[in-house]
Amino acid sequence: MTSSTQAPSARTTLKRNAVRAQYNTEVLREVLASQQICTVAYVQEGEPRQIATLYFCDDTHMYLHGNRQSALLRHMSQGGEVCISVMLVDGIVVARSGFHCSMNYRSVTLFGKGEGVTGPAHRKALDDFVAVLIPGHEKVVREPTSQELAATAVARIPLHEMSAKIRAGDPIDDEGDLDSEVWAGEIPLRKTALTPIASANLRADIILPQYIEHLQVKG
Ligand SMILES: Cc1cc2nc3c(=O)[nH]c(=O)nc-3n(C[C@H](O)[C@H](O)[C@H](O)COP(=O)(O)OP(=O)(O)OC[C@H]3O[C@@H](n4cnc5c(N)ncnc54)[C@H](O)[C@@H]3O)c2cc1C
Repeated sequence: MTSSTQAPSARTTLKRNAVRAQYNTEVLREVLASQQICTVAYVQEGEPRQIATLYFCDDTHMYLHGNRQSALLRHMSQGGEVCISVMLVDGIVVARSGFHCSMNYRSVTLFGKGEGVTGPAHRKALDDFVAVLIPGHEKVVREPTSQELAATAVARIPLHEMSAKIRAGDPIDDEGDLDSEVWAGEIPLRKTALTPIASANLRADIILPQYIEHLQVKG
C-alpha cells in the first residue's frame, strides 16, 4: 500500500478534537501493524454486539478468524457490515486538574462489509495468524488436519473506510493552573513479554527457541 491521504467518509470524519485525526494510509497501517487485537461491532437481529478478537492485515484487508459456528464469522462471511476498533495505549497523561487528565493513544476505526475467505487464501490466512502472534512458530507447528481447517472460518474486511485518532505529548492544562504545586506529565506505558513458562508436559530435552525468547509483543 503506497502512502496517500484519502478523504474521509461522512462516518469517518472526526468531530471531537478533529486535529487528532489521521487519514494517511501509512499512519493507519503503522497503527494496525502495531496491534493484534481489535473489537468488532455489528448488529444482530436489531441488537448491538461487540466481540474482541485477534486480527492481522495484509496490504488490502484485515483478517479475522474463529469457529465456523461463530455468529460474528457467519455475519461477516455473509457480507454483513461491521465497525472495527483498534487501539494502542501509549501513556497516562497526568494533568494539574482532573478535567485534563487523559491518555496518550493511537486508535483506528474501520467500517465495511465482511467477506468470507476460502480455498488457498483460507489456508494461508491460518498460517499468517500464527506468524503474527508468534513469528517463526508457523514454520515449526504441525500441519493442520482437515477437521481443524474445516472448523475454522476466516473473514476479511477491506482497509478502505477508516480513520485514526492520535493523542501524544503533554497534558493540556489551563493557563491558570500552570503554577500549581501538582505534578504533571506523562507515564509512558509499554506491553512487554515476561519470561516464558514451559508447559508442564513439555519434553525435558526441548529448549526455549530464540524466536520465543526474543518475542516482540504487539499492543
Ligand atoms: C485509550 C483511549 C481513551 C480515551 N478516553 C476518552 C475519554 O475518557 N473521553 C472521551 O471523550 N474520549 C476518549 N477517547 C477518545 C474517544 O475514542 C472518541 O474519539 C471521543 O470520545 C469522541 O467520540 P465521538 O463519538 O464524539 O466521536 P466523533 O468525532 O463524533 O466520531 C466520528 C468518527 O470519527 C472517527 N473517530 C472518533 N474517535 C476515534 C478514535 N478514537 N479512533 C479512530 N477514529 C475515531 C470514527 O470514524 C467516528 O465514526 C479515548 C480514546 C482512546 C483510544
